[in-house]
Amino acid sequence: MAPRGTSTACWRSASPPPHSSAHAVTAVIAAAGSGQRLGAGGPKAFVPLAGRPMVEWSIAALRAAPSVRSIVVACPPGHVHELGGGDLGVVEGGATRSASVANALAAVGTELVAVHDAARPLLSAELLEGVIATLLADPDADGAIAAAPVSDTIKLASESAPPADRRLRGSPPYGEVNPAVSVEETLDRGRLWAAQTPQAFRVEVLRRAMEADPERLAAPTDEASLLEAAGRRVLIHPAPPENVKVTTPTDLRLAELLLAER
Ligand code: C5P
Repeated sequence: MAPRGTSTACWRSASPPPHSSAHAVTAVIAAAGSGQRLGAGGPKAFVPLAGRPMVEWSIAALRAAPSVRSIVVACPPGHVHELGGGDLGVVEGGATRSASVANALAAVGTELVAVHDAARPLLSAELLEGVIATLLADPDADGAIAAAPVSDTIKLASESAPPADRRLRGSPPYGEVNPAVSVEETLDRGRLWAAQTPQAFRVEVLRRAMEADPERLAAPTDEASLLEAAGRRVLIHPAPPENVKVTTPTDLRLAELLLAER
């Protein structure tokens, strides 16, 4: 796919202007999940939402962002033909989220990349530009992520929760009692952030982090954690409350309402 512009970015300049379009960014959308937990009978990214397939809301927001020069979508294998054309690059996703992002990363030709989940259709161009500006403002940082301060009190339990697909299948798992699980610790809420997407990175640093240990790639639920494990500096950009993630049918209803208000 031909990029929409050429990367001549000097992104280590001392004080890059916020919301600058001088820094070419490729946006990668992770859209290859099965959507099992949503139970919509097909991949979540293609579930109809406020009149379009969910992934198209993210594509529209990224097209409106001045820094974005090209977009690459990682799609579920049977759905590659449903997108594409114009300025969109489409690749087949992998078995895990990281494998999907790695496939898309192979098509990135800019120095900066922004990774976004199709499961966050409330993305705005403003949020994406804010995350990029946060990264560019610190020459020592290799990544910046959208994140929200945690409002619940968070407990560390003695065991992992049941798999999400079991928890979300409706009642009774919500009320299931498991006497083996106890609270080990209450974490300091003041320092906790819920990581979201978009997440922006210096491409070469992300590539190296992903190549460092291919076996570890199955585990991470975001790309920033790979950089953190490699000792790299990742910054937090506070996200607005509406940047919700669609996981359950309830989330889908909330997203419909929020998009209808736009
Ligand atoms: O499963 P979860 O909702 O956490 O997935 C987050 C994002 O990662 C979704 O947008 C999903 O489509 C994407 N994903 C992917 N490839 C996979 C699994 C998930 O692109 N194999």
